[in-house]
Amino acid sequence: MFLKEHCGVIGVSSPFPVPLKLTYDGLKLLQHRGEESAGISYVDSGNLKLNRGLGLVEEAIDRSLTYFSSTSSVGHVRYSTSGVPDVSEAQPLSDGRIVVAFNGTITNFFKFGKYPNDTTFILDFLSKDLKEDSSMVDAIKHFIDVADGAYSLLVMNSDGEIYAVRDPHGYRPLVVGTVGGSLIISSEDSAVKQLGGKKIKDVEPGEVLGIKDGGIFYDEVVKSKPKTICSFEFIYFSRADTTIDGNPVYLSRVRLGEILARRHGAEGDVVVPVPDSSRPIAIGFSRESKIPLEEALVRTISSKRSFIMPTQQARLDALKEKFGIVESAIRGKSIILIDDSIVRGNTMKRLISRLRDAGAKEIHVRVGSPMIKFPCYMGIDFPSVNELIARSKNEEEISKEIGADSVQFLTVDEMISAVGISTLCHACFTGRYPLEDNYNFSSLDKIFGKV
Ligand code: SF4
Repeated sequence: MFLKEHCGVIGVSSPFPVPLKLTYDGLKLLQHRGEESAGISYVDSGNLKLNRGLGLVEEAIDRSLTYFSSTSSVGHVRYSTSGVPDVSEAQPLSDGRIVVAFNGTITNFFKFGKYPNDTTFILDFLSKDLKEDSSMVDAIKHFIDVADGAYSLLVMNSDGEIYAVRDPHGYRPLVVGTVGGSLIISSEDSAVKQLGGKKIKDVEPGEVLGIKDGGIFYDEVVKSKPKTICSFEFIYFSRADTTIDGNPVYLSRVRLGEILARRHGAEGDVVVPVPDSSRPIAIGFSRESKIPLEEALVRTISSKRSFIMPTQQARLDALKEKFGIVESAIRGKSIILIDDSIVRGNTMKRLISRLRDAGAKEIHVRVGSPMIKFPCYMGIDFPSVNELIARSKNEEEISKEIGADSVQFLTVDEMISAVGISTLCHACFTGRYPLEDNYNFSSLDKIFGKV
């Protein structure tokens, strides 16, 4: 928990105008991928219109928009990369001719000029190519050729064409499906299914899909590299009911818990998950260890994810509101507390202190991911490297620091075997980045604010 995913994207193309409520509802179903800003762009009589703002989808986007109809629209939810969210960074971004909405990070964007962020770079890069009379497909191919990093990208023009692009390594998920008579592109298939639709397929790494009027008019895998899907999509970010490239996220999480119990077991009376993404991990741990699971932490409905708060004090205050503790489930008991990850450790420290106040006898923390020691330059907003608790501490020292009786993490090999994909990105655990360009990593740390 407490990592920032950057974004979620959705695109809708229909043979006849459909209410933008479909795009709006789809965005709400991807809300977990970004809670700081949201936006929808759509085509209205050959013009691109844009509605975006700060906050959750319901706060950021004018609700009256849901009654308007269009054949083509794209939507976006995001976290900001800076401490304070800024509406100028909300997506989609538009130059009046095209709009872009994307999930990920273009790691080498700074090599192309002085851009405030990578989204601005993408828009400018494509705009320049289009001004030189490139076709949309050629401009996108050119972009794929030069861009390094993670991107699941939607580009829409005023003709109502929507292009869906997944980077050649396939770091972030992207699917195409149908809802009613509309084609839909979405970061996760769970959103498509919940809208009452069906997934057609995952967009393949390096694939470009062009859609218009509810049909696919262009489909080519332009460039493909060894697949390196982000491990954290399985561990934490994606919804548990999402399937990525044929791999159900829920089952991966259950296996994380099973392996955790087999290799990093603990004596305890109850297994307690930190809601929500740790639940399937705790189920796996409980089944394997035969120690009963108790939902002793209750996540309050109104709580926003605490890591979006700009200061540590705000995060700690948010944590207090975020979980209620069922004292009767833990009083006098030894708890095996299951979390999906530990980043800074401060929030876990506070939680452990509250569990002790509520009467827990012992607290053994088991973590369904390896130790995070390195920054991510591919779309996940980790805090600065010096704030990562596992950067300089081993399990014993972390245990002492957060006030637990013991702490154990999965190893990288255990995590890979649990997820069931051998070609995952695991750079934040190992420091081995599957990037194309040669980088000076200390410069990257400055550019991406990791120091
Ligand atoms: S470094 Fe970590 S968070 Fe970033 S893409 Fe790789 S696995 Fe995901």
